[in-house]
Amino acid sequence: MPSYDKPIYMTSIELTKGDITKLKVDAIVNAANTSLLGGGGVDGAIHKAAGPGLLDECKTLKGCPTGQAKLTSGYNLLAKWVVHTVGPVWYGGNKDEEKLLRSCYVNCLLIANEFKMESIAFPNISTGVYAFPKEKAAEIAINTVKSFIETPTTLKKVIFIVFDEENFTIYKNILG
Ligand code: ADP
Repeated sequence: MPSYDKPIYMTSIELTKGDITKLKVDAIVNAANTSLLGGGGVDGAIHKAAGPGLLDECKTLKGCPTGQAKLTSGYNLLAKWVVHTVGPVWYGGNKDEEKLLRSCYVNCLLIANEFKMESIAFPNISTGVYAFPKEKAAEIAINTVKSFIETPTTLKKVIFIVFDEENFTIYKNILG
């Protein structure tokens, strides 16, 4: 006899390589800085693709502390929303970097649930200019998402979108 005690839910994890600004998902995550006023890397690419409306909305948010996340619309992006999160700068590992990175992923996922999103795409937060070791960052990203989707969520799909070959290999090995 099947048991119906627990709700049946299923969230898939996908790995893809490319430009996050091209994804048609409910939300893409931006690896922003605390000002939320744009920067280089993925942040710059997202602002460029979204258009000036994104910066105007970001200006109203009054920044974001490291490890937290804030939501805006997606403007000219295919994604409906952008979840802006601020990853930690890697200072060697003794400044709560791992905890703060985990908190970025959790806070983005909590926003996704709050707004009943079904799909979200994460870049490799902190692994660019912020110099977080890629392998360690990937383990945190994957473990945090996996444990989050063990409890009921509106999310049907979580995408890890990697931009460089090194991260692609790391994610592929961990995800199996
Ligand atoms: P951080 O300051 O958090 O390190 P970066 O933007 O410098 O942020 O880098 C974060 C990750 O985003 C890096 O792995 C980088 O290769 C990747 N990245 C840069 N541009 C894009 C893009 N257009 N789409 C997806 N990932 C990107």
